[in-house]
Amino acid sequence: MTLPHATAKDCIFCKIAAGEIPAKLVYEDDRAIAFLDLNPQAPSHLLVIPRKHIASLAHLAAADVSLLGHLQWVASQVARHAGLANGFRVVINTGDDGGQTVNHLHLHVLGGRPMTWPPG
Ligand code: AMP
Ligand code: ZN
Repeated sequence: MTLPHATAKDCIFCKIAAGEIPAKLVYEDDRAIAFLDLNPQAPSHLLVIPRKHIASLAHLAAADVSLLGHLQWVASQVARHAGLANGFRVVINTGDDGGQTVNHLHLHVLGGRPMTWPPG
C-alpha cells in the first residue's frame, strides 16, 4: 500500500498534486509532478514540485536530499521535452528575500529566450 503524501491544508500546490485544482501537467510520477506556470515569465515556464509538502528549500530535511536530486532530474527531463536544447534556467526562490510566494518547494524551469544575469 502506498502511504499518503504529507500535505498542508490550504496549500495550492498540494491541491494541484492531489488533482483538486486543475493544472496543465507535463510530467508526473510517484514523487513529483511538473506543470505549466500560470503566469509565464518566458516562452517555456514549468514548475517541478514534490508531491510531499516541503515548505521551501530552507525546510529540506537530510532525508529529502535524494528527492531534491530527483526533482532536478525531472527538471532536466521536462526541459528536454519542451525542446530547450539551447539551454534553460532552474530557479528555486526561497523565503521572502528570495521572492517565494507559494510555500511549497518548487523548481522553476525557464527557457525559450536568453536569460539575463544578475537576476532582479
Ligand atoms: P514563487 O514566486 O517562486 O513562489 O513562484 C510561484 C509560482 O507559482 C509563480 O510563478 C506563479 O505564477 C505560479 N503559480 C501560482 N499559482 C499557480 C497555479 N494555480 N498554477 C500554476 N502556477 C501557479
Ligand atoms: Zn504543499
